[in-house]
Amino acid sequence: MQLKDMSLLKAKGYIDGKWVDADAGRRFAVTNPATGATLVEVADMGATETRRAIDAASRALPAWRAKTAKERATIMRRWFDLIIAHTEDLALLMTSEQGKPLAESRGEVAYGASFIEWFAEEGKRAYGDVIPTTQADRRLFALKQGIGVCAAITPWNFPIAMITRKCAPAFAAGCTVVAKPAEATPLSALALVELAEQAGFPPGVFNIVIGDAGKAPEIGLELCTSPIVRKVSFTGSTEVGRILLRQSADTIKKLSLELGGNAPFIVFDDADLDAAVEGAIASKYRNAGQTCVCANRLLVQDGVYDAFAEKLAAKVAQLEVGAGTEPGVTVGPLIEPAAIEKVEAHIADAVGKGARVVTGGKRHALGGLFFEPTVLAGVTPQMRVAREETFGPVAPLFRFKTEDEAIAMANDTEFGLASYFYSRDVGRVFRVAESLESGMVCVNSGILSNEVSPFGGVKQSGLGREGSKYGLDEYMEIKYLCLAGL
Ligand code: ADP
Repeated sequence: MQLKDMSLLKAKGYIDGKWVDADAGRRFAVTNPATGATLVEVADMGATETRRAIDAASRALPAWRAKTAKERATIMRRWFDLIIAHTEDLALLMTSEQGKPLAESRGEVAYGASFIEWFAEEGKRAYGDVIPTTQADRRLFALKQGIGVCAAITPWNFPIAMITRKCAPAFAAGCTVVAKPAEATPLSALALVELAEQAGFPPGVFNIVIGDAGKAPEIGLELCTSPIVRKVSFTGSTEVGRILLRQSADTIKKLSLELGGNAPFIVFDDADLDAAVEGAIASKYRNAGQTCVCANRLLVQDGVYDAFAEKLAAKVAQLEVGAGTEPGVTVGPLIEPAAIEKVEAHIADAVGKGARVVTGGKRHALGGLFFEPTVLAGVTPQMRVAREETFGPVAPLFRFKTEDEAIAMANDTEFGLASYFYSRDVGRVFRVAESLESGMVCVNSGILSNEVSPFGGVKQSGLGREGSKYGLDEYMEIKYLCLAGL
């Protein structure tokens, strides 16, 4: 891989301001999902290296916390500027290890960086309260203070943005961090750390531990059970989220969990159908269907079902599948063989129970990890696609008759991350938005996330919010100050 600035290609972890190998020099391979080729072998760290990273973060905490928010913001702003200046290299790194088309990678660099810019400023506004007193000789205050050493465990589908969405508010709040990126995509995260070092982050403020899939549980256990770590922020599967929640019980840690989704995408009879097709494509096929807010179930009202299915299939058939580095490609490879097997199993289950493949439906002629963008019609709640997150380029179309039926179907899941719907009736817009059991509702668009709005789920989709003013609170504690004897 040829980057303009080869200093961004890193293969070691970063602890206490130094790039370090794993103990005993263990390494694991990072591969390109479009070709299967090894990109680079990186340090394979475990519990002992994690402990050292936690200690470094603990030592760095007093000085970082003592800086003013403005001083921290100056360093963060330099980090933001460096990321933007290196957009092309970061996008190429991301596409190489993750597979998404370069245009999407560039978009993620901008999106990921936006959290740094936003929280650098928002840190200056971590206001407390002066509370009207209950006794004449007392004055009462609520102060906000950074929580302390934080851990961030991130997934492979947004290799840059998931790191910045957690680390930026932590740094702004005066916290230090140990981050563990996904084993499939450590290179983007390491490049971010290199730029943070260039931006002037003091040693120990931002540490990164990398390890393969086998090491993830021991790294996670160390982070969750450490009495020094006060907060764990995780994005990934609900299954792993449950493990982290359990493991954090003994040390009563604060947790943010951004877990799986099963997003409904509802198209009502009164929708602008062309806009709904556009939105469905953006929501469903972005990142080859591998985002936690991807539309997972498309619920379409009876009157427009056939027209919507036809228009959607026509557009989906035009999507260009290939390596993310090829011009014009809109759908890259899936991340790993298990991902493609799950997609195949979901389609086979649906077809076995009576669904119809409208377009796609099988592995792509390119072979490897490429799959044809797929539309399924005649899907029912008895099929696996109704219950489980497919995490691939498959749009299953369910049919419904009434608004109440659509809401009941949409809410019939243990998840509650994002929901989408298309309607031009203003009364319906509010009725449905208020009835959907999800942390985020997007009306008349398929894309909803930005740095200024609260991202997160209800039910088994997680705890806490990222981005926005609420995202900063996740990394702060409220201290009540009672001044008596006045
Ligand atoms: P995905 O389905 O997105 O791969 P995972 O939940 O498996 O989601 O992975 C998300 C992140 O959690 C990755 O960084 C992975 O290495 C890490 N991880 C996986 N298992 C554990 C575990 N038992 N403890 C801590 N982290 C884990």
